[in-house]
Amino acid sequence: MHPPEDAVATGYGGSRLVSGVDVPPASAYDGLALQVAHAEAAGEMAPEDHDIAEAIEAEAEWMTGFLARLVDQPTILGQEEGGQAVVREALREIGLEPVDVPMDAEAIRAHPVHSPFDWDVGGKVNVVGTWHPGALDHGRSLILNGHVDVVSPEPREQWVRDPFLAHVEDDWLYGRGAADMKCGLAAILGAVKGLRQLGLEPHAPVHVQSVVEEECTGNGALQTILAGYTADAAVIAEPFGGAITTSQVGVLWFQVKIRGLPGHAAASGQAVNAIEHSLKIIKALRALEADLNEAPPAPYDAYPHPIGLNVGTIHGGDWPSTVPGECTVGYRIALYPDMAVRDLQDRIEILVAEAAADDPSLFAHPPQVLYNGFRASGYEVANDDPLVSTLSNAYARHHGVPPALVATTGTTDARVFGEVAGMPAVCFGPYAEQAHGVGERVYLPSVVQTAQVMGMFIRDWCGLS
Ligand SMILES: [Zn+2]
Repeated sequence: MHPPEDAVATGYGGSRLVSGVDVPPASAYDGLALQVAHAEAAGEMAPEDHDIAEAIEAEAEWMTGFLARLVDQPTILGQEEGGQAVVREALREIGLEPVDVPMDAEAIRAHPVHSPFDWDVGGKVNVVGTWHPGALDHGRSLILNGHVDVVSPEPREQWVRDPFLAHVEDDWLYGRGAADMKCGLAAILGAVKGLRQLGLEPHAPVHVQSVVEEECTGNGALQTILAGYTADAAVIAEPFGGAITTSQVGVLWFQVKIRGLPGHAAASGQAVNAIEHSLKIIKALRALEADLNEAPPAPYDAYPHPIGLNVGTIHGGDWPSTVPGECTVGYRIALYPDMAVRDLQDRIEILVAEAAADDPSLFAHPPQVLYNGFRASGYEVANDDPLVSTLSNAYARHHGVPPALVATTGTTDARVFGEVAGMPAVCFGPYAEQAHGVGERVYLPSVVQTAQVMGMFIRDWCGLS
């Protein structure tokens, strides 16, 4: 989709861009989010701002190197440890002691806001490095967060190069996770590294986090909160291209399992085809999706299709000459911030039951709705929240224009901090393209710019001396 003409972000499309051959478009969050407001403009960069920007600029090469090492690690679900090892090493280079926060299945499942999961999380860890306050400790504390997990790059044959081998060309770094969101981890670590080179200390703790399972549950971020990591605000460096997210939808993952009756394809009269029945369920769920998009509440009313239903996986049948006796389809659907996840689950379960109700072949075994993965509410933070205005102000001083405030049709870990710990949380990160797609890439100058704004924001939010 394209935002209206007057709602184009000026983020990294402006003259401050050190452009390569391929300059990013003016709209820095196309397809991921829609602008809902412009933050107020602010004054000029102060002398201290220039010092911070310069010190962080000097870390550009370090950030690219760290990002490349991180992209080289194939940190898909269950294989995050290689990436966390790179993060630990980088934290030590900065001078922060990495602390492992292991995933504890029992503790996660005991929390009302967890997302259900059927895989083993034993041995998986989140990594946190804390920059402790110096002599002064009257500031506001902060969590800077990124996730190390990435989605699968399949089908790999569509990639020109190995998706897990970082490749730099014309100021862009390519590879799975380059955008979503290892570039953000590079920016937050680079910001802290630059500030520390200036010999500064924060007036409150700054926790730098690399979490797991943002792409499927949010339980990694939840685990850090359960381990005691909370702060006065959280910034997640997701690649929204310099825009600040103030609203996000919720996301529910669910599976519908159809039990049919297998039989020989040549005598299929008695058999019940589970795959064909699954297609009926998909059709019924499309009607629910259409209904949810009928009259979206603000700010999603500016969006042509805010609620996406994705048919993401299908498993059924094992032989062309056998009528499939079982089929399970995996879905992702979004929900508005004012909706309860449980209400959406109820609607889905009723709809699936109704779709099967007039079919005698399914009477004995009605379709089952199962939950495994995201059970995430939507989340909003006020446009005038001190977190938003302080971050906007730092951005506006650096770029000379205020940032876009956006609503996104995806979920992020921001809602975990908001919902579980009552912390204001936003996303703010580099300019990137093709997240979850083929040829995923990040514009490297935007990583540095993100880090510079982040550095100025840390000073404004926490205090530095
Ligand atoms: Zn992400």
